[in-house]
Amino acid sequence: MSMGKCSKCGSSDWKEPRHVRARGITATTVAELNIITCKKCGFTEFYELTEKELEPIKKNENKIWIFVMVIPILIGIAVPAWLVFG
Ligand SMILES: [Zn+2]
Repeated sequence: MSMGKCSKCGSSDWKEPRHVRARGITATTVAELNIITCKKCGFTEFYELTEKELEPIKKNENKIWIFVMVIPILIGIAVPAWLVFG
């Protein structure tokens, strides 16, 4: 992502973009944003993430869901098995 120059002070010294999720009034209005802040004057801009930037985030979320769903199943199998055979 090219960030160019600060529109307030002209500095090109930006902090690392921070990813934030902004949620609107309804759950369907979600914006994935990058916040970048000028190191010099603190001017902050929002950029909506491109599809390409969103890809790894979405993949990570899928991994988390698999984790959240698989672990209780494994525990649900392991604990009775341990009780029966242990
Ligand atoms: Zn600035």
